[in-house]
Amino acid sequence: MKKNDEFNVKIEDMAVGGEGIGKVAGIALFIKDALIGDTVRAKVMKMKKQYGFARMMEVIEPSPWRVEPKCQFHRQCGGCQIQALSYEKQLEFKQNKVLGNLQRIGGFDVDKLPVEPIVGMDDPYHYRNKAQFPIGTDKEGHIVTGFYAGRTHQIIPNRDCALGVSVNEQILDIVIGIMEEKGITAYDEETGKGLVRHVLIRYGFTTKEIMVCIIINGKKLPYADVFVEALTKIEGMTSITLNHNLKQTNVIMGDEITLLWGQEYITDYIGDIKYQISPLSFYQVNPVQTKKLYSLALEYADLKGDETVWDLYCGIGTISLFLAQKAKKVYGVEIIPQAIENAKNNAVINGIENAEFFVGKAEDILPDFYEKEAKAGRKAYADVIVVDPPRKGCDSILLDTILKMQPERVVYVSCDSATLARDLKILCEKDYEITRVRAVDQFCHTTHTEAVCLLSNRKPDARVKISVETEELKKVKEEK
Ligand code: SAH
Repeated sequence: MKKNDEFNVKIEDMAVGGEGIGKVAGIALFIKDALIGDTVRAKVMKMKKQYGFARMMEVIEPSPWRVEPKCQFHRQCGGCQIQALSYEKQLEFKQNKVLGNLQRIGGFDVDKLPVEPIVGMDDPYHYRNKAQFPIGTDKEGHIVTGFYAGRTHQIIPNRDCALGVSVNEQILDIVIGIMEEKGITAYDEETGKGLVRHVLIRYGFTTKEIMVCIIINGKKLPYADVFVEALTKIEGMTSITLNHNLKQTNVIMGDEITLLWGQEYITDYIGDIKYQISPLSFYQVNPVQTKKLYSLALEYADLKGDETVWDLYCGIGTISLFLAQKAKKVYGVEIIPQAIENAKNNAVINGIENAEFFVGKAEDILPDFYEKEAKAGRKAYADVIVVDPPRKGCDSILLDTILKMQPERVVYVSCDSATLARDLKILCEKDYEITRVRAVDQFCHTTHTEAVCLLSNRKPDARVKISVETEELKKVKEEK
């Protein structure tokens, strides 16, 4: 088999990135947009020794799970990978992805794991509360916006993404319209010239509050008052800001924010807890599923009211405040200082007094705390530790400290099941076992999924001994 050869091939499996996998003469071909169950005509693009990559030229016989996608750009756009796959089959794919990683990377026997069925959405479209639209210029010199094509920074013009809220289009029409009319330039990534880079839109699903943040390569936005006047006509407009990003980088946001109108944040609810969200804070993008995810984390934490809980990688305190409703004390740790400011404020606006927050790396704060306590003759204590790290997972120093602290339960919330499996392996080789695990589909039509896992301490007496020791230590000290 060589480059440009064409074959008909039956797709028998799907890779973690959503590509269909078919075999020709015993060699696996990875074919983007081909779905499990399809027979497709494919053209070989690149060959390696054991496998190759091919382009889908035509669907010869469609898979029974192939459906009509809502978005006409689903193949070019880098946002969705599996929109043409029925939602039920998407859920099965994601569940298998999590289990596959636990087996391959974690070394777990998944047939013996207490796996609960993946939590999907009733309506898996228009679920995103956040979108970042890149602004560019097309060949005719018109301002365009939409989404990047897969693996490139070429903009596919589309203001009406099937995953986003409908007000996105209205906002983009206004911004682009004024840019065209007033001759305001779009940023050009190659030259580093031009002004408007991205438009960030956030929407509070419960409060219906809208945030627009225009990210510019400069200090000032000309005709800012014209933008404000037009945007404030939209019902629910709450926050209009500029973000200044003068660096020639593909990082979207800079650090500095200027308020143009209204306030710097919007408010939204998850369950009974309200959160203030600024342009720079991390906030889960799918609020409907986030409620289910956090409720599950809370259920796994199994709090009775007198527990000490650590919530590591806490962002704006989302999970921490959820837990604080049921725990004695919650400590949250997060690396971004603004997020911790939000977290503290979120505690205040909810009247929550039993949550405390620390800025820093989880892998610094918790081990330092452990060492300090040890020096003082005490043992750092937690009944439950919750972790919700970014895709790269937890640092091994942090996992070591968790093992030293011996909480009764660890609740691991993960957006990447590969690093989840790697970290669970470390914890389960020592004192923990997986007692519950469940995927939650936060990112319908993409190949990503969240998963929550409950780890229980196999040595339930370890903690009792510790608290007795602490009591005894106290007594010894008092006697002295
Ligand atoms: N639990 C929160 C945030 C989860 S996202 C929520 O559900 O909303 C992961 C968070 O970890 C981000 O806020 C990120 O800023 C933070 N983070 C990344 N590396 C970190 C580290 N080494 N230590 C602590 N926080 C970190």
